[in-house]
Amino acid sequence: MSAVVERVAIVGLGLIGSSLARGARRYGLAREIVALDADAGVRERVGALGLADTVTDDPAALSRADLVILCVPVGAIGAVAAEIAPHLKPGAILSDVGSVKAAVVAAVAPHLDPDRNPFVPAHPVAGTEYSGPDSGFATLFSNRWCILTPPPGIDPAAIGTVERFWQGLGAIVETMSPEHHDLVLAITSHVPHLIAYNIVGTAADLEAVTQSEVIKFSAGGFRDFTRIAASDPTMWRDVFLANKEAVLEMLGRFNEDLSALARAIRWDDGEALHALFTRTRAIRRGIVAMGQETAEPDFGRSREAPRT
Ligand code: NAP
Repeated sequence: MSAVVERVAIVGLGLIGSSLARGARRYGLAREIVALDADAGVRERVGALGLADTVTDDPAALSRADLVILCVPVGAIGAVAAEIAPHLKPGAILSDVGSVKAAVVAAVAPHLDPDRNPFVPAHPVAGTEYSGPDSGFATLFSNRWCILTPPPGIDPAAIGTVERFWQGLGAIVETMSPEHHDLVLAITSHVPHLIAYNIVGTAADLEAVTQSEVIKFSAGGFRDFTRIAASDPTMWRDVFLANKEAVLEMLGRFNEDLSALARAIRWDDGEALHALFTRTRAIRRGIVAMGQETAEPDFGRSREAPRT
């Protein structure tokens, strides 16, 4: 693939930032990659892994970049935008990968003149429960959605550049408003993470069940929740605080439906339970059919149980 931009700069080389750097290099999306990170330990790893042509903590290094992508936690994006904005060259495009969009748009807007530096917010709907520069990989975004939420009036050419960049990484790009993004992701990603954090926390607090029993008998449903509940604490704290309204709205709906399920169990309403479980199974099959999940039993894990 031919380069989408001359120079891309990635700010924050964690799971997502380092995956972007690896993908940009592997698929030839930029002739030069600049990595900016405030953490000396992260810079040392990025240098050792050879993920970028320049590795620095000096925002002045962004002055030649055509596309700058902020890959720091949502709560830090506004402050980082304020710090780097004076260094952007005229016409350089600013983007991000934050998991919440309306709060990010509001946090970045005061620091940017959109006629000088268009802001094209993006959210790749892809990730793992790991953090840091060693956890990234070039194919993370392959066949995954990337949602763009450009504010009205943004230069279509800038949107096109960001779209081509993500397509070059193998992503499927969709565009929507920041508010709609936040509502959709609240139910598909944010509330499921909250449920996982909660159920693992509840199990850990149970007095009648020991910690070792929770670990020993964790095969099945609980084990899958523990994977999600191992996700980065800073990132997820920021997501819930930044998407408060949509998460609380979806949590209200969730609580109502959970009460209905409790009622069905209490009154031996097997028909209601069976009807819901049949509907949910169809949704799972739809996700597999769209290529967003493997059809392998147990998520493709080895069928052979580990000996303990
Ligand atoms: P990560 O692996 O923890 O990396 C975050 C990077 O940002 C680290 O290099 C971190 O440095 C740096 N950072 C943290 N706080 C900072 C601050 N106040 N100022 C400047 N840099 C700071 O996290 P990630 O999973 O890549 O997430 C990055 C962004 O991607 C977040 O906005 C998240 O919402 C979004 N996202 C994540 C996923 C996912 O599944 N993980 C999926 C899609 C989008 P330190 O090591 O020093 O903290």
